[in-house]
Order: sequence, then structure tokens, then C-alpha cells
Amino acid sequence: MRPSECLRESETWKAAASGQWTAALRAHERECPVCQEVAHVTRWMTQLAVEPSESEPLLASARSLWLKSQVLANWEARERATKPIQVTSRVASIAGPLLLAGGIVSEWAQIQAWLTHFRPQWPQAWDSGGLTSGLIVSFLVLGAALIGVTMVAVHRYVSLQKRQQEQPSA
Ligand SMILES: [Zn+2]
Repeated sequence: MRPSECLRESETWKAAASGQWTAALRAHERECPVCQEVAHVTRWMTQLAVEPSESEPLLASARSLWLKSQVLANWEARERATKPIQVTSRVASIAGPLLLAGGIVSEWAQIQAWLTHFRPQWPQAWDSGGLTSGLIVSFLVLGAALIGVTMVAVHRYVSLQKRQQEQPSA
């Protein structure tokens, strides 16, 4: 059975974990028993992560214990679920530029031919630095854009996963 919920629960959770409260959220937490409990449990979790202690009061409320078990279960599930994504994004951030560089080297002749074809339309400034500098700039921009798009996509996917785990009953 799930105790009553509050819409600002996850907001409170993040604030308590980071210690960064907005005035409005603080005021809400003072009056909302659900968020008080969430903040209490989150602080307990944060403390537990730093140093496992015996200071936990012996007579914890049933709701408090239930929430703590939920927090631990959610946290473990999230770690498991996002692990492959974390590894993949790390590999991609290293392999991406390498693959790009490798691709440029192996297709150099073709790229040069292609660029020569379009060269008459290039801005005058690029020609003053020669063909090579223009080529390097354009591929740096392309590489940065590709990496950027990948990072954004991975980040969006991860936050979507998190949101789904935070609201399993929704
Ligand atoms: Zn609340």
C-alpha cells in the first residue's frame, strides 16, 4: 500500500539531496507532511552514503521505514538501468572522434575531390588560408555537432528513464 503522495515529492527529493532549496519549496516542505518525510529520508540516504552510522533512532515510523526501503530499491534499480547507458556514452565520446578522424583519413582522396568540386562557391576568406585550413574547420564543426547531438540524445534518454522510474505507478 502506498501512502499519500505529493506532486512536489521528486522536487523535494532533489533539493534535499543537493541542499539547494528554493524559498517556495522550503515553505511547502514545512507544511507538507509527505515532503517532510521525503526530505528526512533523503537526508538520511545522503548521510548513509557518506558514513554508515548507528545513529538512526530505534523507533522509526512504519512510513519512514517503508520510504527508506523504496528509496534504496529505486536507487539500485536506477543504477542498474543506467549503467549500460553510462558505459555506452563514455565509449561513444572516445570512439566518436577517433572514428571521425579515421574516416577522414581513409576517405581523404574522395573528400578532397568532393570539396574541390564545390570550391568555387566557398567564401573568399577560406581560400586565403588555403584548402586545408578550410577543410579542417569544416570537419571540426561537423565533428563537434555530431558529438553534441549524441550527448543531447543520450542525456534525454537517461532523464526519460529516470522519470519513468520515479513514477512507476503513473
Ligand atoms: Zn509536498
